[in-house]
Amino acid sequence: MPLTPYFQPLGIPPNQMRTINLTPEELEVLRLVDLEGLYQEDAAAIMGISRRTLWNDLKKARKKVVNALVNGYAIRIAGGNYAIHPSFPHPDIRPNRLSVSDEVDNEKVRKIFELFPKTNCGACGYSSCIECAKAIASRDASPDACRIIGSKIKDDVMKILEEGR
Ligand code: SF4
Repeated sequence: MPLTPYFQPLGIPPNQMRTINLTPEELEVLRLVDLEGLYQEDAAAIMGISRRTLWNDLKKARKKVVNALVNGYAIRIAGGNYAIHPSFPHPDIRPNRLSVSDEVDNEKVRKIFELFPKTNCGACGYSSCIECAKAIASRDASPDACRIIGSKIKDDVMKILEEGR
């Protein structure tokens, strides 16, 4: 969910303000695809929806946001039909919770974590992205353990693991 559910442009009197409604699902689709840069099939898997539904939501959401920006409408994020994944938001995603035990190299965990989508989807079998990063850094999990973008970042993870050896 966003930090604030309502955005409005400056300089428009309240009685002339038009508001566009963006559902939380539409915002999540924008976040995963346009902000995090995930492939649509990966974003659909995380959200538990079909690619067609994701594409429809993405098209609608982009149009709503552009419409608001171009025409000076407010945006309210509300409504929709969704369930929040039990591991979200996971407390370990906060930067001050990144430190781990002495046996694991904190810097490696941090670098591996930075490569992940940070969606805490749980598909890798760990409760959050940071737990998966810790497991990889301590070599309890393979470098491509992230089921969402693992193979795409495997080489980068391998380089991080080899640092300082
Ligand atoms: S690391 Fe695990 S929890 Fe994070 S996105 Fe990848 S599969 Fe999901």
